[in-house]
Amino acid sequence: MGHGDSWQLHATVPGRSRRPAHPQRGTVNHPADTVARLRAAFRTGRTKPVEWRVSQLRRLRDLLTEHTDDLAAALHADLGKSATEARRTEIGFTVREIDHTLDHLDEWLRPEPAPVPDRLGADARAWTQYDPLGVVLVIAPWNYPVQLLLTPLLGALAAGNAVVAKPSELAPATSAVLARLLPAYLDPEAVAVVEGGIPETTALLAERFDHIFYTGNGTVGRVVMRAAAEHLTPVTLELGGKSPAFVDRDTDLSVVADRLAAGKFLNAGQTCVAPDYVLTDPATAKALEAEFVRAVEALFGTDPASSGEYGRIVNERHFDRLTALLDSGRAVVGGGSDRATKYIAPTVLADVDPASPVMREEIFGPILPVVTVAGLDEAIEFINDRDKPLALYVFSASEGTRDRVAAETSSGGLGHGLPLAHLTVSDLPFGGVGESGIGNYHGRYSIETFSHRKAVLEKPLA
Ligand code: NAD
Repeated sequence: MGHGDSWQLHATVPGRSRRPAHPQRGTVNHPADTVARLRAAFRTGRTKPVEWRVSQLRRLRDLLTEHTDDLAAALHADLGKSATEARRTEIGFTVREIDHTLDHLDEWLRPEPAPVPDRLGADARAWTQYDPLGVVLVIAPWNYPVQLLLTPLLGALAAGNAVVAKPSELAPATSAVLARLLPAYLDPEAVAVVEGGIPETTALLAERFDHIFYTGNGTVGRVVMRAAAEHLTPVTLELGGKSPAFVDRDTDLSVVADRLAAGKFLNAGQTCVAPDYVLTDPATAKALEAEFVRAVEALFGTDPASSGEYGRIVNERHFDRLTALLDSGRAVVGGGSDRATKYIAPTVLADVDPASPVMREEIFGPILPVVTVAGLDEAIEFINDRDKPLALYVFSASEGTRDRVAAETSSGGLGHGLPLAHLTVSDLPFGGVGESGIGNYHGRYSIETFSHRKAVLEKPLA
């Protein structure tokens, strides 16, 4: 599949030189032209047939399998992501989501009959049908720059929309690869990639879209929602925040430490659903210390800096922000860093005051503070005193404790015994609540998000 001159908007990225990707052609579009072109394509109806949707998903799958190495190299350049992580959490994840969607799309799109009241007569029928929305804007962050651009993109295509995809400028190598490959694989009439940072995104947000799907932080989430309000455009906001992990006193702490460390230090802690901090009683906190030392060594050896499996911090700004948090407690494991390589050791902090800097904002890096509470009641109060988290994790052998947390707290997702994994279950909705976001996606929930559920009533004329 070829691509025309006007397929992409080649934008200026702050701190990088202006670089039209087709210098020989020198074509730079205004976002209004891109959106108008996609809207015109949508109006022709080309994105609606299920065959088109399936073909786009298959092409996207081909892109991922034929260019796994290119994508893995870009992810390594941007985040020091290991090839194992790149395959598992970005490429493999997205391929599984495509396969799941291809397996179920017909069933998900089926109109749903609704019972009709007797007063409308026995011959009246009613149902709901899923209509595509039109032109969707997907704005992605840098931490999982493949998965978090392509998973919403594939959901929007499966629902029959045209899509403008905006990768994060903070993962420039991945952004460049996706901007090069997506046009070569997907229908250029209905999908466009716009690269760039704040000026380009601001210009895009001035346009009218039929849905905006934003993943990132709450400050920009508010910018997106304000811009969307001008056009009454619905939004999905996939945001973050501090996701707590409560560890009960009766638990097998070696399993707890292994699972917490694996979830926390994946992608050097730059994961929206990473356990942000541990809440536990003082005796359990003490007993966990040795287990964390063992668990981190089991994952990355005695010198994580030389482990090929351990990632790096995305840029100097985040490195400086994170290293300033290392003083918030006593380092049980880790604590070291190297600005030249943007390395921060996998770190667990004990004796952390809830008022300390590390507890004031989402950490989004490889630092795991342990905060002590008297027990379950205080843990629930601690959680409910703060913003509603994107994820909440509970490690407890007691069903009563698990039930109480489920009933008495609110969070985007709840994981008992295993961090992160709920988001890999395609049949579960993934999204936040309150400060952690609005709306959700994955699997059939992506169809719900990117469609209008139209109510239809039919009464024969004779
Ligand atoms: P980021 O800096 O890459 O920003 C995300 C997107 O917003 C980018 O495409 C960027 O170009 C755009 N953007 C930035 N400033 C803008 C502005 N002023 N106007 C318009 N657009 C702008 O990513 P980030 O925000 O640093 O991502 C980290 C945050 O995202 C964390 O809070 C994390 O928890 C959250 N997150 C959430 C999820 C989720 O699925 N809920 C997933 C990953 C990350």
